[in-house]
Amino acid sequence: MKTEIRTVQQNLEAHLKAASSGKALGDSIRIHQVADPVDMTREAADRDVAVQILDRESKLVRRLRLAMDRVKDGSYGLCLQCEDEIAPKRLKAIPWAELCIHCQEEADNLVSHRVRMLDSEHWTEAA
Ligand SMILES: [Zn+2]
Repeated sequence: MKTEIRTVQQNLEAHLKAASSGKALGDSIRIHQVADPVDMTREAADRDVAVQILDRESKLVRRLRLAMDRVKDGSYGLCLQCEDEIAPKRLKAIPWAELCIHCQEEADNLVSHRVRMLDSEHWTEAA
């Protein structure tokens, strides 16, 4: 069990390292100053994409940090919702998973249900 946790920690650290490589990207945004005004629009578009990537990465970094905290306090691998064990196969695929597959599906269903609700409201309004 102890070695397993060590493996999990190494795995999370590896993911964290990969996700934090966005820092290098952030540096390149700053270094890449615009000299030619004609290129400015394209540069801005490039920067938007980079910012989006950074945003996504920082969310992943946060989830990875939380997962590492859970490894430390011993709650890693337990669903935050129902406190059941998250399937090892799922943790292998998503080491930072917070929910078991059932709760995740429920959460996903809730979101798509809300989307459907919004859709039907929209149709009622249109009619
Ligand atoms: Zn659950």
